[in-house]
Amino acid sequence: MSLVIAIDGPAASGKGTLARRLAEHYGLPHLDTGLLYRAVACALIDEGLPLDDVVAAGAAARGLSLTEFDPERLRSREMGEGSSVVAAIPSVRAALIDMQRRFAARAEGAVLDGRDIGTVICPDATAKIFVTASPETRAQRRALELAGRGEPVNYALILEDVRTRDARDSQRALAPLKAADDAITLDTSMLDRDEAFAAALAIVEKARG
Ligand code: C5P
Repeated sequence: MSLVIAIDGPAASGKGTLARRLAEHYGLPHLDTGLLYRAVACALIDEGLPLDDVVAAGAAARGLSLTEFDPERLRSREMGEGSSVVAAIPSVRAALIDMQRRFAARAEGAVLDGRDIGTVICPDATAKIFVTASPETRAQRRALELAGRGEPVNYALILEDVRTRDARDSQRALAPLKAADDAITLDTSMLDRDEAFAAALAIVEKARG
């Protein structure tokens, strides 16, 4: 039977790292669904269009090919902010659903991380984990990550970004950030990477029964 692991959580909660490690552990393909929304934002920015151009955003999502974008650029702070604006546009979300579901339907299974994987994309996932951490912890982690990539770091601004993005992602009408009813919440605030991975692995193993 295929193993589908749905990992959701707010920005910089550590869900991406956990998803990658779980995928490696089980030998499954991994899709970081945030990259899809980041790429839509990037397409608009590159064309000089505003992020709330609903028609252009829908078209960009429908014609999306991730390989056309520089992964480093997609992971920048600018794209993180922009992605949460385009992610609230219904035609953008609708255009990206099939691609994500097809990825999850592979015979061997898959690991997907995002905001609505357990609630909308893969409601029947084998295991659902909602990864969270305090805004301060997440801002610190994001600051370290950006510094590691040579981007300028301003902790206060990053904390503000985290809070703005949490609010936008949780309050939007469509597919808001929230734990599925049958998800297990994993708070990583007090855990290092290995402890968080061990906890996530235990959740998946229990769900596999
Ligand atoms: O996970 P990441 O920070 O890369 O996601 C960027 C943005 O894309 C999020 O802030 C959110 O607005 C949006 N997103 C989403 N649904 C997903 C994944 C990401 O709305 N499944």
